[in-house]
Amino acid sequence: MNAPVQLDRRQLEKVAKRIATHATREWTLMEICSGQTASFLELELEELLPKNIHLMHGPSCAICTASLSYIDRAIAIAQLDSVIFCAPGDLLRLKGSQCDLLEIKAQGHDVRVVHSPLDCLNIARAQPDKNVVFFSIGFEMTAQANALSIWQAKRLGVKNYSLLGSHGYVPSICSRVLSEPNSRIQGIIGLGNVCTVSGFAEYENISRRFSVPVVVTGYEAINLLEGIDICIQMLESGKNAVENQFRETVSKAGNKEAKALINEVFELADREWRGIGRIENGGYKLRPDFEAYDAELIYPVDIETKADSDACISKDILLGFKKPTDCPLFGKSCRPGTALGATMVSNEGTCATYFNYAHHSHAG
Ligand code: SF4
Repeated sequence: MNAPVQLDRRQLEKVAKRIATHATREWTLMEICSGQTASFLELELEELLPKNIHLMHGPSCAICTASLSYIDRAIAIAQLDSVIFCAPGDLLRLKGSQCDLLEIKAQGHDVRVVHSPLDCLNIARAQPDKNVVFFSIGFEMTAQANALSIWQAKRLGVKNYSLLGSHGYVPSICSRVLSEPNSRIQGIIGLGNVCTVSGFAEYENISRRFSVPVVVTGYEAINLLEGIDICIQMLESGKNAVENQFRETVSKAGNKEAKALINEVFELADREWRGIGRIENGGYKLRPDFEAYDAELIYPVDIETKADSDACISKDILLGFKKPTDCPLFGKSCRPGTALGATMVSNEGTCATYFNYAHHSHAG
């Protein structure tokens, strides 16, 4: 029963040995995606790596980095009469400044779990006397599904459907990380899943601009270690370019139809990233032609948003300067369920991932 696992571990150890052979000095890389961070920690991959390879964990957890005011806005809109408020299940437990959507639902407001924006659009079509809002947080993959729902709503003439969407744009956050004057990040392990939509042409610009290699990488343990190996070989040979480790899924051009749809419905705009602040072109907003579907404009609610703890070091974690175990609050006053900052807010946040997978080995 255990043989395949042992074999996998042996394969991983082989790749790790290759990395050790290729790395002749200290290198610091960042894996951008929180899913990759979780894989590294869950599978204890860092323990296989040679000590001269340092991994910092990147800022691509969309839920953690959605601004708190945006969550407060969602909770306020969900309390309006005549609104049916729909969201994926994982967003219902997301704490706003005062409460979460589950508590609003328990008070009797019409808050529903849906699996896709198209389900939400169907609810709107079935109940034309109600205003149906879809609440969504994500990156390019999420933007494509939401763009489709808005495009469909317009095509069908549905007027009682709208979107409260927070969509981050990953190339902008990569640029933000690498723009830090004292950044230690020398190579980027890029997000395979996002690149299935976006492709990686934009990352070639980033690689050129900041003189760093970027490796588009998948999520299996072997993908991640091979991505690191490719990145180390590029660093050792002074090659700044984009390599694609996730060839079975990602192409340079990405999904052209999905990109065209995103670009028809959305445009890039500055976005507030919780823990970091405003990032230029950090996300998508609806184009003027589709503003009639923008819940933020349709429902101008008053909100009062609390600031995150002053002691929180999320910004330094998200930008690759520190790790959760550098925070004095980690695992003490800040834990999942009592998050005091961005990176503990969702299970996929770096602090929450450390708490769940690495707490005992790192925090004692
Ligand atoms: S442990 Fe909590 S307070 Fe510390 S950096 Fe993480 S989110 Fe912020």
